[in-house]
Amino acid sequence: MLLLLLFGLFQISVLKKLSKKKMEKLHYKKEGFTVNWEPKKCIHAGVCVKMLPKVYNPSERPWIKQDNATVEELIEQINACPSGALSYTIEE
Ligand code: SF4
Repeated sequence: MLLLLLFGLFQISVLKKLSKKKMEKLHYKKEGFTVNWEPKKCIHAGVCVKMLPKVYNPSERPWIKQDNATVEELIEQINACPSGALSYTIEE
């Protein structure tokens, strides 16, 4: 009985760590280019939604549809994110 309780507590702790890790940074890939988003940093200023409404839509999942803009448009918008929640990675 005690063993089962300990295993249950272990599982809960692992699941918490996994979901926490998952939420730290989310990635949206597009042909050698990745939009990264860190939910904890986002201040919900809405700059992304105003600049590229076809890409950023908080009422849809996924909320970032990176294929609806060119890489140049994405970079320009990401650089305008006031909190640094958005960043990008270019694969070489
Ligand atoms: S522009 Fe940046 S801070 Fe503003 S809502 Fe979008 S991700 Fe969040």
